Amino acid sequence: MSQNTIFTKIINREIPADIIYEDDDTLAFKDINPQAPFHVLIIPKKAIATINDINDENSYLIGNLYTVAAKLAKQHNFADNGYRVVMNCNEHGGQTVYHIHLHMLAGKEMGWPPY
Ligand code: ADP
Repeated sequence: MSQNTIFTKIINREIPADIIYEDDDTLAFKDINPQAPFHVLIIPKKAIATINDINDENSYLIGNLYTVAAKLAKQHNFADNGYRVVMNCNEHGGQTVYHIHLHMLAGKEMGWPPY
């Protein structure tokens, strides 16, 4: 189910995206519908559909997403003021693209709770 999402097309450069970070396992690009001054999606290149599909073999890829978030926070000077990272799962979580992704939102003070 996760193999043919729009994010696979971004990874394969079949559709354009504003890519701000890439390494062997991970890609980060600007969200097309930003909810904060800085809103990027950090994704594993390997397609994992949802949080429910994380396991002992692929969990290092999820750790990498947070490592990249920390790098981007320092690079873009958001580390001290703070930011939010969010991963939505399935319908009640608000997930619409079934290729796991970490939203990173920064540049304003976030509200809580998220409804
Ligand atoms: P939601 O759409 O409710 O935010 P997700 O957590 O699944 O659900 O997030 C998918 C995100 O992907 C959305 O923030 C959406 O704006 C973003 N998005 C969809 N298509 C693209 C694209 N082509 N380039 C960049 N971001 C995209």
